[in-house]
Amino acid sequence: MHYKDIVKKISEIMPPDCEVTKVEPEGLATVIYIKNIKAFYSNDRLIKELASALKKKVTIRVDPASLMNVEEAKAMIESLVPKEADIKGITFVPEMCEVRIEAIKPGLVIGKGGSILKEIMLRTNWAPVTLRAPTMPSATLDGVRKINALEAGERKKFLVNIGKKICQPSPAGDWIRVVALGGFREVGRSCLLVQTPNSKVLIDVGVNPATGDSTKSFPYLNMLGFSLEDIDAVVISHGHMDHMGFLPYLFAYGYDGPVYCTPPTRDFMVLLQQDYLNLCKKAFDVDPPYTKKDIYKELRNTITVDYEEVVDITPEIKMTLYNAGHMLGSASVHLHIGEGAHNLVYTGDVKFGFTRLFDPATTHFPRLETLFIESTYGGRNDISVNRFDSEKRLFQIIKETIAKRGKVLIPVFAVGRSQELLLVLEEMSRREPDFNIPIYIDGMIMEASAIHTAYPEYMREQLQRRILSDRSPFESPLIRVAKGMSRDEIVNGEPAIILAPSGMLTGGPSYEYLKLMADDPNNALLFVGYQSALSLGSKIQRGMKELPILGDDGKMKTLNINMRVETCEGFSGHSDRAQLMAYLKNLRPNPERVITMHGDWGKTEEFARSIGMMMRKESRAIADLEAVRLK
Ligand SMILES: [Zn+2]
Ligand SMILES: [Zn+2]
Repeated sequence: MHYKDIVKKISEIMPPDCEVTKVEPEGLATVIYIKNIKAFYSNDRLIKELASALKKKVTIRVDPASLMNVEEAKAMIESLVPKEADIKGITFVPEMCEVRIEAIKPGLVIGKGGSILKEIMLRTNWAPVTLRAPTMPSATLDGVRKINALEAGERKKFLVNIGKKICQPSPAGDWIRVVALGGFREVGRSCLLVQTPNSKVLIDVGVNPATGDSTKSFPYLNMLGFSLEDIDAVVISHGHMDHMGFLPYLFAYGYDGPVYCTPPTRDFMVLLQQDYLNLCKKAFDVDPPYTKKDIYKELRNTITVDYEEVVDITPEIKMTLYNAGHMLGSASVHLHIGEGAHNLVYTGDVKFGFTRLFDPATTHFPRLETLFIESTYGGRNDISVNRFDSEKRLFQIIKETIAKRGKVLIPVFAVGRSQELLLVLEEMSRREPDFNIPIYIDGMIMEASAIHTAYPEYMREQLQRRILSDRSPFESPLIRVAKGMSRDEIVNGEPAIILAPSGMLTGGPSYEYLKLMADDPNNALLFVGYQSALSLGSKIQRGMKELPILGDDGKMKTLNINMRVETCEGFSGHSDRAQLMAYLKNLRPNPERVITMHGDWGKTEEFARSIGMMMRKESRAIADLEAVRLK
């Protein structure tokens, strides 16, 4: 809808005694500034009427001139909100006439039917916004929220600009195409361009974190044929490096547009990209492709969207994110292009099966013509052991190792697999009282777990209930943070389980533990996740016993792998072949065309062939740099 029509509609609906002073698009919302909030609240249905007429989020703010002074307003809020809400912070953002209230129990800040929020607004004129505080301290979340408040002026300017751009009327385009820029016939550096005569949108901008070689690690953005500034929007499916690790590079080289993702994805981006800067220098000895400054710029331009919220990202493209079941906040991306001319779904990494953390991926979409589906385990033989058997085997290996007084090293992604494993081990300790082996977590696992506790609504209901009722499994007494202890001390201490990133032993704490533990046959190395063909993990998994490594003195030496090496499948955040097939069978509606991606060369091909036979639809594996015309 054009901006002028929005203003007209609002003036028709709003009663004159509300005294509207300004209407402004701000990112995805339309903000209405008024003088008289009492008059607005005298009609309970007004806000719903506005939202349905504008088909947009509507935010009401009181004109900045009549905001209560900050000290008084703070005292008023504290007197209105019950103590049990456990407020952790109250931040006033005058640029947006907003007060952000962070609490352990935000429901109690909101009140029944929003009654307390309404009261806060009526008495102070500040527009209250609630945020859930994590139950464990999280430096990332703290940082993200602080920067968002500190940079509110700049952020507002950016949001108003974007809001206006999206309202522009656009001429109908007569073609739609996609270009594979990374992550096709390979795993890593995922990036897809969706282009029409009027819009250019990127879905995912990842790196291949297993290598420092830029020709294999970064997506083919240099082949775009237009400059990065011309991109209208970027959508990020989830917070793993192979889907968002290269995003700050865009900001370093001229992109200044919006990034759309779920709130947890935003937090993981900031956490893991900062870590990548260190990894580049330490593990690969190369200069990182961007700096911290670019990550902050990315944060300022990130607009978060919840699952199943339909939003306009360009004048002709509507986007909706759906649960993908793969990690906290992971999404499948649905694009509705050109008044229904074409609908595509990009699954992202998808889990259509049981996990302790998440519900299985959504398979129902309003419309669907082209499906892009991941194929990590799309090969004919990629049928993994069922979850029950994998857990049994996991405990058996742990018990055997502990009996020999060894230690178990499990290399894991800091985000996703480590939390799933923690839930499995925590439940085991509750079921079997003898199983009280300390679990050391290293690197960013603690921080990533803390972020989980701020978003219970993104997890399975049972887990939600535990976190909301103060019984968070991430705070089990068995879990010990390795920070402050030397790794030598842990490795030479009592039997223990050690969870450490990186998941593929490409540097990071897991690699440091490996060096300390590899020689002792009583220890065990247990792989639970995907090992990229280029990674050290894959080499060890395939049976390599002597590895050339760089010693502390800078000289090459040999690391002998004498420890037990095992792989325990079934904990993956990816669907195995059977789950991928079940996902396709459950898909509604049936797409006209399927394109496979995010899998090794042969697997994407093999999977596409099987889909073609099963669904009797056009199905193919395209390679990086190939383009497909959708309309
Ligand atoms: Zn992933
Ligand atoms: Zn991935």
